[in-house]
Amino acid sequence: MSRDCIFCKIVAGEIGDPPLYQDDEVTAFRDINPQSPTHILIVPNKHLTSVDEATEADQAILGRLLLTAARLAKDEGVADRGYRLIINNGSQAGQEVFHLHLHLMGGRRMRAMG
Ligand code: 5GP
Ligand code: ZN
Repeated sequence: MSRDCIFCKIVAGEIGDPPLYQDDEVTAFRDINPQSPTHILIVPNKHLTSVDEATEADQAILGRLLLTAARLAKDEGVADRGYRLIINNGSQAGQEVFHLHLHLMGGRRMRAMG
């Protein structure tokens, strides 16, 4: 836990609404500023700044992020039409919160990547 990290506080239940999903490894919650009808963030409970900081020991956690996203996409009803998963890694990619997170976005047609 990083004391000054907003996502660590959400994982710990100190701020925000109750999570959509939480287990021993990951927590999922709605983005505060959604960019699509479904916009969920899935984060490791452990504070990792980005995928750069992940090691072999984090392999199961990284897999859990993707599997959780796929399940939540089904639960949200966006799986059939398609959805986008994004990890912004570092400032030039637009990362603003330095606790690793996977964006699950769906419910509208996505623009081409750029
Ligand atoms: P990034 O640009 O780092 O990939 O994405 C950070 C995301 O976190 C943004 O989409 C932003 O709206 C979201 N966010 C920032 N602060 C909070 C917060 O306190 N609560 C929630 N639920 N989302 C947040
Ligand atoms: Zn954190």
